[in-house]
Amino acid sequence: MATSNDPARARAAARRVVRVLRAAGHQAYFAGGCVRDELLGLKPTDYDVATDATPRHVRALFRPAHLVGEAFGVVLLPIDGQHVEVATFRGEGAYSDSRRPDSVVFGTIDDDAARRDFTINALYLDPEAQPAERTPGVDGRVIDLVGGVPDLNARVLRAVGDPEARLAEDHLRALRAVRFAARLSLTIDTATADAVRRHAVELRGVSRERIGQELQRMLEPPSRAAAVTMLQGFSLDGPALDEPSLQVPVPTVAGLPPTRIAFGVVLAAWLCDRFGGAGASIPPAVFEPVARRWRRALCLSNADRDALAGTLDVLHDVATQFASIPIARQKRLASRDWFDQGCLLLRTRRPDLGREIDQRVAELAHAGEGVAPDPLIVGDDLISLGLKPGPAFKRWLDEIYDAQLEGRVRTRNQGLQMARELAARSGVQ
Ligand code: ATP
Ligand code: MG
Repeated sequence: MATSNDPARARAAARRVVRVLRAAGHQAYFAGGCVRDELLGLKPTDYDVATDATPRHVRALFRPAHLVGEAFGVVLLPIDGQHVEVATFRGEGAYSDSRRPDSVVFGTIDDDAARRDFTINALYLDPEAQPAERTPGVDGRVIDLVGGVPDLNARVLRAVGDPEARLAEDHLRALRAVRFAARLSLTIDTATADAVRRHAVELRGVSRERIGQELQRMLEPPSRAAAVTMLQGFSLDGPALDEPSLQVPVPTVAGLPPTRIAFGVVLAAWLCDRFGGAGASIPPAVFEPVARRWRRALCLSNADRDALAGTLDVLHDVATQFASIPIARQKRLASRDWFDQGCLLLRTRRPDLGREIDQRVAELAHAGEGVAPDPLIVGDDLISLGLKPGPAFKRWLDEIYDAQLEGRVRTRNQGLQMARELAARSGVQ
């Protein structure tokens, strides 16, 4: 895999790797996702090279090279500021668990194609092909040993070989099937879909971390609703989330805007669809245990966990309190973390309420000094009045700030005056 933001440089680096391997008498091709994406007219930034050279030979041709995993036959080459992953053609190894081959057996390009997951992912490209032999639409010659090109043209996702066997030997492929089908708008071929449904629903042998990563990759892009619908349709949602499978409509997920959205926020939307019923929001007593379970089931990062709980918390407060609380509390709520994300969900669940709140927030932004002005009075000001720091300080500062948010205190002097009154009222001179 070449890592770069620049597709042209990534491709050039991978092409150089191919040239060097060829010059040394080896076979070498672009392989896998990058070929699929080029055929789809996308601009991949990750290029994998597949070769018949063993990792030892690859290392000898390129120094310095990092050996990613001797057992997996992959060498990571830093080339022109890019990282190109070079994998030796693999043959069929024995599978002891559902995830990893015990050891990698090297093989031919035919063996290598046969052990890839889906036909559209089992394509190779010769970037050095002469003009006469080039495949229209791509810069090189496509080598298709498993019918991947017709499947791609027909927008079909199909397992390489016997779907039953391929899904049984690696349950991660079930999640990958959903991810590719959703992201690339593919139909899953019937036999492959049956195999996903029959054999892969336990996700046996797939680590929680991998499950979380796969879900993140399917939920962040705009195609998230298709992914969620497929996960539920295949009953993969239960094992992935460590709870009973559910077949529920997902209007909240489907109503999110068609942009990339943080994983935790999309999970919050999905949680609403699964457990929120018809209400605008979900009380913490209901969502907190689910969020805790999902955190473990998906190995969520702290940031994702905070986004999930924070978004649902704001959604609930906005939906149940916002209209009836004083201006100061409205402004405090509107400047809380995850306010925007909570409103995003509210707009999809209750468009009428969402519009009302958007309008109110716009008004608040124009009222006084806006939603979250700097406080006119801080602790040092209280000290300068001769007051002693103590537990009452925070209470007084909060009250003065509330008055500022509501426009009752507009200047520093008014703030100081209010501080004096508060101190006097509580018997402090
Ligand atoms: P993406 O754009 O998501 O990176 P990709 O197709 O490049 O898609 P990778 O996970 O990077 O996917 O894997 C690279 C290639 O390795 C795949 O295209 C596929 O041929 C093969 N592959 C990856 N995971 C598996 C698996 N679990 N079983 C079989 N083949 C796999
Ligand atoms: Mg890739």
